[in-house]
Amino acid sequence: MIRKTLIAGNWKMNGLLEDGIALAKGVAQEVKKAGRKDCEFLICPPFTLLSSAKKAIKGTKLMLGAQDCHYAEKGAHTGDISAKMLQDIGCQYVIVGHSERRTNHYESNELIKQKAEAAINTGLKVIICIGETEAEKDAGKTIAVCSAQIEGSVPEISNGQNTVIAYEPVWAIGTGRTPTTAEVEEVHAAIRKVVAKKLGRANANKMRILYGGSMKPSNAKELLALPDVDGGLIGGASLKVADFMAIGEASKQ
Ligand code: PEP
Repeated sequence: MIRKTLIAGNWKMNGLLEDGIALAKGVAQEVKKAGRKDCEFLICPPFTLLSSAKKAIKGTKLMLGAQDCHYAEKGAHTGDISAKMLQDIGCQYVIVGHSERRTNHYESNELIKQKAEAAINTGLKVIICIGETEAEKDAGKTIAVCSAQIEGSVPEISNGQNTVIAYEPVWAIGTGRTPTTAEVEEVHAAIRKVVAKKLGRANANKMRILYGGSMKPSNAKELLALPDVDGGLIGGASLKVADFMAIGEASKQ
């Protein structure tokens, strides 16, 4: 198998200490029980839970990631967290360019690229999020928008190992709506082509492209069975151990 499935949970701004630790422990225990060799599991809790989540998942293969980082290593950046800090407390991954950050924090492709570059140079793996708005979809611009986001926010140092792309249609996030499987496959295949043009065919073949946006146990199987879908970035359904693990189970071919 050229690409190992990745099931990643984006907890967003959810979880206080007690329930966050319980969720991390619950997922870790189930990942251990599942003993999957064909699939990796990752949780991305908020910054405040990373340290305790790290302890809670110790001794299991469940991986830890953060939801954002700053591009600088340290310095006068009040309220920010560097990739080095994330690595220091045991993160292996960081999400950058989530649409909620692109929208709510006005993050540009250029800034996202700087963050991704810093994370990779630090030794973290990055999940770079892209995706069109509903208006862009309606205007038939999905592939053009995603291509421009890849061009602008994926750094040249990205490769099949250090970078994961998450295709998340903005209109599908948290709405219960998803594109058809044909639409998802069309966009994922197009993304792989753009990556091949930018980073070479070998990197494109190795790079995992996740689908995100209202993925849940009831629709995961058909989405994860698509040839260019290599896993999921899961928001709401990652907050329940049973749902998150059921999505993992649905990835079994
Ligand atoms: C996300 O925001 O990354 C996401 C996919 O959210 P949800 O699964 O809740 O749509």
